[in-house]
Amino acid sequence: MAQVTLDSSVQYLKGVGPNRVELLANLGIRTVGDLILHLPSRYDRQPEACAIGDLELGQIGTIVAGVERIRSHGGFSRPSVVVGLVDATGRCTARWFNAAWVQQQIKPGDSVRISGTVGEYRRQAQFVNPSLEVLADEDDEHSAMRGRILPVYPATEGITSKQIAGLVDRALPMLLDQIQEWYEPEYRRSRDLPPRRTAIERAHRPVQLEDPPVARRRLAYDELFLMQLAILRKRRLERSSVRGVPIKNTDEIDRRIRKRFPFKLTAAQRRAIDEIVADLARPIPMNRLLQGDVGAGKTVVALYAALLTVAHKHQVAIMAPTEILAEQHYRGIERYLAGSRVRTKLLVGGLSRAERADAIERIDAGEIDIVVGTQALLERDIEFNRLALVVIDEQHKFGVVQRATIRSKAAVGRPHYLVMTATPIPRTLALTFFGDLDVSVIDALPPGRKPIKTRYVPPDKLEEAWAFVRQRIAEGEQAFVVHPLVEESEAIPLSAATVEVERLRRDLLPGRRVDLLHGRMKPREKDDVMHRFAAGEIDVLAATTVIEVGIDVPNATVMVIQNAERFGLSQLHQLRGRIGRGSRPGYCLLMAEQPGDTARSRLSVLTRTTDGFRIAEEDLLLRGPGDLMGGRRQHGFDLKVADLISDVDLLTQARKDAAALIAADPNLAQPKHAVIKKELMNALKGRFELIDVG
Ligand code: ADP
Ligand code: MG
Repeated sequence: MAQVTLDSSVQYLKGVGPNRVELLANLGIRTVGDLILHLPSRYDRQPEACAIGDLELGQIGTIVAGVERIRSHGGFSRPSVVVGLVDATGRCTARWFNAAWVQQQIKPGDSVRISGTVGEYRRQAQFVNPSLEVLADEDDEHSAMRGRILPVYPATEGITSKQIAGLVDRALPMLLDQIQEWYEPEYRRSRDLPPRRTAIERAHRPVQLEDPPVARRRLAYDELFLMQLAILRKRRLERSSVRGVPIKNTDEIDRRIRKRFPFKLTAAQRRAIDEIVADLARPIPMNRLLQGDVGAGKTVVALYAALLTVAHKHQVAIMAPTEILAEQHYRGIERYLAGSRVRTKLLVGGLSRAERADAIERIDAGEIDIVVGTQALLERDIEFNRLALVVIDEQHKFGVVQRATIRSKAAVGRPHYLVMTATPIPRTLALTFFGDLDVSVIDALPPGRKPIKTRYVPPDKLEEAWAFVRQRIAEGEQAFVVHPLVEESEAIPLSAATVEVERLRRDLLPGRRVDLLHGRMKPREKDDVMHRFAAGEIDVLAATTVIEVGIDVPNATVMVIQNAERFGLSQLHQLRGRIGRGSRPGYCLLMAEQPGDTARSRLSVLTRTTDGFRIAEEDLLLRGPGDLMGGRRQHGFDLKVADLISDVDLLTQARKDAAALIAADPNLAQPKHAVIKKELMNALKGRFELIDVG
């Protein structure tokens, strides 16, 4: 048989047939290399052994003893094997029925560890069918008495932790010598990392309870280090091969832009602007994520970048996920630019053929400075003349693929990219999901904001809550009623939503104008309903999460969220950001069907804080990163060992180290980086669809 290497399929291990191959694949284990990185989820310590003389009848007992003799009894119906055992304090026996295997495993003179219920036979202690472990010659008696630390592996239906342990036992001895060290001794020492080989060995075969965490830390570091290397290397490649248009700021331009804003920029906005301005000045395309809570003032920052670009006679495209949002951006920008010479154009589906053709022609001719639109801006027939900046609102609604498409439109090098998101992304996630983006954060709201009051409504207070909603509407205000019924992709019958609207119209809010907005409506229909709501022709908008993406209706002051327990905290926070945008205070009422204590305490986070970042961190703790980001995986990079929540510090260290390595040896060409290079190539094989886009 050919030598088993780390890359060999697990099928080459003894005891792994096609069935096991599939079960292991479910655990993400394809190669034996994967297998030895499948770390135990916890460890059990074997019970401490006692002396034979101390065994207690009827109790579970464990001993470490020598094998004196082995007899098989050919008993007619129940053959058994009886083993005589001895230690310094006395003798006892162990009997196994139907167990020919015992004779194959032990011979007189062996040391064994026996554990089981203590019975009695001919006035001597006797174990019946106990567990048996043969100690190796090198096992020292003291640690055998204390009991080994046994790994417990994440398992799945059809394959147990024990079976996985058996496979690891088989694989490890063949592989340990093949595990290469990645770093120089000094590098490891200064980061407190054990050798990789030791880490892998000790993770599976800890000598003491302190071993596993140390081992895990090393392997998590390696994983994060590789991931960061991949991200940073790609970014560097991009930077060396792709040119952008340098756009330099001057005091004069800065003064002119600031004059456009009827308020003083907040410190957080100024910081974000400084970062963006520095990016734009370089001949490398900017790739920056601008994150800030709803209403934090991102649009103003983006507009600053846009006007700076226009001052250099380049074009800007601003993309929003829906027509209504594009329109809103457009109107907002128009307000700031009133009386200026900046030429703007809204390009949405609603234009007539002739209008659209005209707009496209003027964009192509460079007669438009700022184009605002939706995905429609990505259409083939749209060519920009001097596109130098693309601003994308709510990035995660677009996805990375479309980010790539509009780039190809650039007529002067590649445009700079600024992506705005209101989803508060904890630092760990920003470094992984968006590891190829720089991040600016607007972490403070403009002054004078009225915080939204959020209340949890217990089931016995529902009637009061609806009375409050009726009263707000009677005062001329408007309300959202959100329920998680209709999701774009779910096959929940639409009738459920219709029933809900009927219930609102008939029972809860009689006499009010209630209309429905849901994800399976055509964009045209959605926009129509939103327009009527914004115009005050509808009192109550019964909606699904489609309203999550920001639309300003200053007169909407109340948001009722039903079955709030079914939403993520960040999502709820986004939802409530839709209200309280006018001069009157906003109220968010969280209703829950049958909120258990966990649901209630989870929801109470929202009643206590309006800090989106804190809420996102809480979400991350409760639900895990995949959920928060809509299930997208980290650049296709599976993390087997590292944990994005608990390993933040390690991630930060790994990122710093990866950056230093890439700076010193961009192509990992130095002999001392050969192992890392090989590992990196291996990890990237077939996995990097996402990171290659954009
Ligand atoms: P975001 O895009 O982050 O949700 P916007 O840029 O739309 O936030 O700003 C929300 C509101 O706050 C807008 O009405 C805007 O005019 C206002 N605003 C933005 N920056 C400031 C500021 N520095 N001072 C006062 N008001 C501001
Ligand atoms: Mg906004």
